[in-house]
Amino acid sequence: EERVNVGEFARMIGREPAEVIKKLFMLGIVATINQDIDFDAATLIASEYGIEVEKKVVINEVEFETIEEQDDPASLVPRPPVVTVMGHVDHGKTTLLDAIRKTRVAAQEAGGITQHIGAYQVELDGRFITFLDTPGHEAFTAMRARGAKVTDIVVLVVAADDGVMPQTLEALSHARDAGVPIIVAVNKIDKPDANPDRVKQELAEHGLIPEEWGGDTIFVHVSALRHQGIDELLEMILLVAEMRELRANPNKRARGTVIEAKLDRGRGPVATVLVQNGTLKVGDALVVGTIYGRVRSMHDHLGRRLTEAGPSTPVEITGLEDVPEAGDAFMVFEDDAKAKQIAEERALKKREQELKKKHVSLDELFSQIQ
Ligand code: GDP
Ligand code: MG
Repeated sequence: EERVNVGEFARMIGREPAEVIKKLFMLGIVATINQDIDFDAATLIASEYGIEVEKKVVINEVEFETIEEQDDPASLVPRPPVVTVMGHVDHGKTTLLDAIRKTRVAAQEAGGITQHIGAYQVELDGRFITFLDTPGHEAFTAMRARGAKVTDIVVLVVAADDGVMPQTLEALSHARDAGVPIIVAVNKIDKPDANPDRVKQELAEHGLIPEEWGGDTIFVHVSALRHQGIDELLEMILLVAEMRELRANPNKRARGTVIEAKLDRGRGPVATVLVQNGTLKVGDALVVGTIYGRVRSMHDHLGRRLTEAGPSTPVEITGLEDVPEAGDAFMVFEDDAKAKQIAEERALKKREQELKKKHVSLDELFSQIQ
């Protein structure tokens, strides 16, 4: 699960990155200096130099100064699950996300105009679920590559008339790598040639055994097009979420992850962020990656203006000095001065690392020539 950047790792063990990259290659791992390797690979390489890697040390070195204080268990309250929809192209991911939004959001919010902000939240009998609105595993892996862990549950969409396809298996393997529970939505059951049993059979061969066959994977039959089975799917998501005991502390400064960001001509940098712990408030001073900001405005996916947002809430904010990247972590600080200082320190560190990278890519070049 934990990963370390190759360049950073080489520096930690006092070796040239080119040398580490070569060793990795001999282990069958192709990685560049900018990529991350897992803890096991790092341990293996280090042991070749007689160095023992301690997990804590490696992680603390790699993260900026973002080590989070442990929350007092008494301060934790349940938070909504964050769900990503994955699956093969044309199996109905976008249609399903639309169906969930339409059946659970628009109907209740008469006149509410849904905005695309990259994520939305739905309610079922007073309980909430947050959906990331960018389907597919590219977004998921891009986020993970930046160290972001935002998804609590993956809904794997498989068309009942098509069955398990290559991207179904890719999505499955990404979800497994991330250790995220999977709920299977067998979609397009309205089609005359729908064969949900075949989907179950095929997925069972890959270790996703349906509950009714004695396994522990939940399968839900849906028709995203006809809005069938949507509430059942949401119920199952809430059930899995309950078993996971997802908790957060709303009474502290917020931290979370950027879901998407853009430059708006009128409003400047606009970012959709997911609050993962604490509560984000208008006026908060924050740092996103190396960017300083102060929350000027905050809106939800219905375009409603908010003054604060608690755990698992996606909000669109303005007030950042630059456009961050999806997957960047944000963190609120006690005041402007502190946030500015942290942003500057990080920008400096980033520049240093970039300079080092230039130097290293020359090394790599030479080692290839030799
Ligand atoms: P994505 O590539 O996974 O996002 O798939 P889309 O949501 O774009 O759907 C691909 C096609 O399948 C579209 O033509 C949809 O209208 C159709 N589709 C999606 N869900 C259903 C369904 O439940 N039943 C039927 N009959 N068609 C569906
Ligand atoms: Mg789509």
